[in-house]
Amino acid sequence: MEGGLEMSSSEERGLSRRAVLRTGAVTGAAAAGAMAASGRAVAATGGAGSSQAGGGDPGRRTSPAEDLILFNGRIHTMDAAQSVASVLGIRQGLVVYVGSSLGQARQQFTDQPRAIDLEDRMALPGLIDCHNHIVLMGNRPGHHTPLENAQNIADVQALYAARAATLQPSANPPTSAADFITTIGGFSTNQFAETRLPTLTELDAAVPGHPVYISEGFTGPSATNTLGKAFFENVPSPVGPIAVGADGSIAAAPFLGSGPTSQATLALRQTLTFDDRKRSVRDAMAYAASVGVTTHLDQGAFQATNTPADGSAHEDNYTMHLPFLAVYAEGEQRDVEPAVEAAIRLRINYLLFDSDPSIPVATARIQNAFPFFGNDLVKNGAAGEFLADIFHYAGGNPTWMNAALEAAKAGWRAEVHSLTPADFQSEIAGFEAVNAQIPITGLRWVVAHVPFITPDYVARLHELGGGVNLTAYEYFGTANPGGPPYRMLVDSGIPVGLSSDGMQIAPMNPWIHAYYATTGLNALGNQINPGQQLTRAEVLEHFTSANRWFLGGQDEDLLGTLEVGRLGDVVVLNDDFFAVADTDLRKLHSVLTVLGGRVVHSGGIQYWA
Ligand SMILES: [Zn+2]
Repeated sequence: MEGGLEMSSSEERGLSRRAVLRTGAVTGAAAAGAMAASGRAVAATGGAGSSQAGGGDPGRRTSPAEDLILFNGRIHTMDAAQSVASVLGIRQGLVVYVGSSLGQARQQFTDQPRAIDLEDRMALPGLIDCHNHIVLMGNRPGHHTPLENAQNIADVQALYAARAATLQPSANPPTSAADFITTIGGFSTNQFAETRLPTLTELDAAVPGHPVYISEGFTGPSATNTLGKAFFENVPSPVGPIAVGADGSIAAAPFLGSGPTSQATLALRQTLTFDDRKRSVRDAMAYAASVGVTTHLDQGAFQATNTPADGSAHEDNYTMHLPFLAVYAEGEQRDVEPAVEAAIRLRINYLLFDSDPSIPVATARIQNAFPFFGNDLVKNGAAGEFLADIFHYAGGNPTWMNAALEAAKAGWRAEVHSLTPADFQSEIAGFEAVNAQIPITGLRWVVAHVPFITPDYVARLHELGGGVNLTAYEYFGTANPGGPPYRMLVDSGIPVGLSSDGMQIAPMNPWIHAYYATTGLNALGNQINPGQQLTRAEVLEHFTSANRWFLGGQDEDLLGTLEVGRLGDVVVLNDDFFAVADTDLRKLHSVLTVLGGRVVHSGGIQYWA
């Protein structure tokens, strides 16, 4: 072993304490130190003569495959017995020891691996988000800065100022999205004490030297500052010029229609380069690691038209994965500093969006893609979250039906979404119609969101071998009851997954979902889901072990719990999930995220007030 490069546990202890206790720039420095340390660890295990680390054989596996011991923790393994361990050993990316003896853990290695003292902190398997849109987030124009955790406009200003401090100076006037700090979706003004967007003056005060574009939901409204206003008002025809109010306000666009917000988003997108997208991918991955979500099942995008009819959830379903694949490919280069660029595992569902009953899109996908094909780090899922385009997504529609039959014939998993009091009925009836021709009871077809689902339809879906995938976008709204009926669904015995549906109409942060699922309180603090709460233990189970059902394939045996033989994906929380006050649930985050034994997060921008 290259002994001089190993870190002692006392050094690790100092690092983790700094990363937790200090704020702002100081934490950033600690994080930089931690990442440098991580890079050294990679060099130590990856160099010639290393006896067993996977890093010594690049190309053999694309997934991180490091050696690591975590000790002195409260490690909730989420195994069937709900075991809590204090020591975890990870060798070549896989768990090799779970227990209470540091000595026994060390015996699993021929040389002494890096060991990190968790200082009695709570640790979990890396969380699984089985329905989100991180691929959209990774293709955002500008330096997208999540505002999921901001409680007021002062928080927004602080986050933007911290972001600006990490960026090169902007051109003046700005020339492209690369100059911009942006937040496109993932937050609601209902979460801010002021229940409004910041003004031009407030944005200028926080970020005088960069243009800012902050846009809510799918289609706005939005706001900008002085530099941004100058950019948008000078966008040439046909996309611009874009109307910006004296207060920096940019009006919302109609859904699937043109308006100032969709014009502004398109103008920024039109300046995106492939390198910009790769940078956004890394930012999205880093944010995900910071909230402890290590595995993401992406559910696609509305197919982009490259006109101002596109909203924040539109992208090109044929090219939007390419910057992710590029980042994964570069992440294999062990001489890159920091070596870790791929901080999460990505699973890709294909959103099928035919409008024609001859289903050319679905046919091509199903004939030419293999479900669950790929590696530990990135692989296909199957069909979801649509089987036909947004105008034909009701179950039983001929276009929907043909795509569903094609998916069933190929043995594919399929997921559809339900938003209204009626659509789950047509979808589940449609599943039954498919099943009458081609059995789907072994395929685990899923209905997502289901805010209004009723027990009779739950029973029918359960009978079909299906499951429900529950998201928390209702947290941003005021509908009462907002749903989903968590309690009824978990008690019914049907497979239940928890997920985010981030990052347009909902936050990615699973701890915000935990808050909503356990309290029923929306962002305004009002009870909107009476009688449908989960316990904290149930939330944890359904973000980890229970979510394996929704991944399928080999992932079921590799993810979701910390047991010998599974992937070494671990999240160490800043506080005790079971002990914090309800209001502090939303502030939970990771102080140390490990992917395949490799530290992929230990500091960085602080998103929590
Ligand atoms: Zn979705």
